[in-house]
Amino acid sequence: MNAIPSTLRGTPRFPALQRTRLETLQVNLGYRCNQACSHCHVDAGPARTEAMSRETVEQVLAFMRAAGVGTLDLTGGAPELNAHFRHLVAGARAADVAVIDRCNLTVLEEPGQEDLADFLAANAVRVVASLPCYSAANVDAQRGKGVYARSLRGIEKLNAAGYGMPGSPLELDFVYNPGGASLPPDPAMLEADYKAELGRRGIHFNRLLTITNMPIRRFRHELVREGRLDDYMTLLVDAFEPANLAHVMCRSLLSVDWRGYVYDCDFNQMLGMPMGGGAPRHVSDLAVEALAGTPIATAAHCYGCTAGRGSSCGGALSD
Ligand code: SF4
Ligand code: SF4
Repeated sequence: MNAIPSTLRGTPRFPALQRTRLETLQVNLGYRCNQACSHCHVDAGPARTEAMSRETVEQVLAFMRAAGVGTLDLTGGAPELNAHFRHLVAGARAADVAVIDRCNLTVLEEPGQEDLADFLAANAVRVVASLPCYSAANVDAQRGKGVYARSLRGIEKLNAAGYGMPGSPLELDFVYNPGGASLPPDPAMLEADYKAELGRRGIHFNRLLTITNMPIRRFRHELVREGRLDDYMTLLVDAFEPANLAHVMCRSLLSVDWRGYVYDCDFNQMLGMPMGGGAPRHVSDLAVEALAGTPIATAAHCYGCTAGRGSSCGGALSD
């Protein structure tokens, strides 16, 4: 199981990784968010002003079409708060590209977003929503007072638009991440608990995705403050599972920041590590055919993707 000798501390070098075929373009539309969660790895919040411009959105669309990517994965901050969000979604759908909206649920109650659920449904956007627990106390502790109640109201709007309902093609998935410095539990068992608890409240959804907390930015600061960073890194390294290396998301994904610069993943973007560890590259200046087989920039935080069942923006990498 563990290919890294447990005597190696100080975090051993992460194994080298190369790109395969590009399938997903993940685009960060900016850092503005109506929430400011304690674990947020992009330090998003209401005061952030960074937002992708219309010009960069057009460059993203041009690259997406040229590269023939299958999925456009929109994130932020709250991606819906970017003024060009709907233009980008419509452009992708017109090119028959699947779209994922990483939605924080409470944004559905923001001014100007009253028709958001209907817009997403009309464009068959898959909604992936953060809901770190089915209990109000845990959600509010991690995401802010009153967030649980507002999240449930957001889900009700999505359910009313057909999301997550039995027989509906509109997908609504929830994302769970641990409240602290531990690995996520068995996704199937946790999903059953979510379905039972939320089902009692009349809430419907499709799947629960479990994600490991990455030891970067806000969560890393928290670990440092509490003197637990070394313990958490040891937990991740000791749980290293080599089989996950074949499935880490960076092998088939590119991450684009709000200015249009590209990275191997969202986490590397937050750490300012350009694609492949080279000089910064812009999406308007990227040759798709040259990507396969090129190296991926890795560092100690990558152990967050390979620990236990593994972790990615799509949840665990193995059962
Ligand atoms: S809702 Fe998401 S983007 Fe916004 S602060 Fe929370 S974790 Fe960050
Ligand atoms: S952190 Fe990024 S680069 Fe490292 S393994 Fe995970 S997805 Fe790949």
